[in-house]
Amino acid sequence: MSRFDRSDCKQSELVCAYALKVLPASKVAAVEAHIAACPDCQRELENLRPVLDRLVCWPTDVLRPTKSLQERLALRIAEETGKQPVPPPALQWSEPEWEQVSPGIECKLLATDTERHRVSMLVR
Ligand SMILES: [Zn+2]
Repeated sequence: MSRFDRSDCKQSELVCAYALKVLPASKVAAVEAHIAACPDCQRELENLRPVLDRLVCWPTDVLRPTKSLQERLALRIAEETGKQPVPPPALQWSEPEWEQVSPGIECKLLATDTERHRVSMLVR
C-alpha cells in the first residue's frame, strides 16, 4: 500500500483490527464510536472491505488446525500404533524481533529449515 492510500488517523490500525474481528471485545465499542466520528477511518474501513471479502474465502480451518483435530489425530495414531497417545505440544510462538541487515532493510526470521538450507522471513 502506498503512503498515499494510508489513513492519517492514529486509530487506523485499530480500525484494521476491528475489520478483521481480532479486536478485544472491550475495545469494540470505542472503535465503533470513533469510526462513526472519523471520515478517515470510515474511508479506511471501505478500503479494507474488498480485501476482507477475499479473506472470507480462505479455508481458515485448513490454515489453523483446531486443538481437537490435533487431539483426535494423536488418539488415532495411538490406536494404530498401540502406544500411549502423545498430547499435542503447547503452542510456543514468540514474535521474533526485526533485525537490521543493512541501512533501510530489516528482516524478521520466521522459520529455519536446516535440512533444506532455507529460511522463511519477512523483509521490510
Ligand atoms: Zn480515525
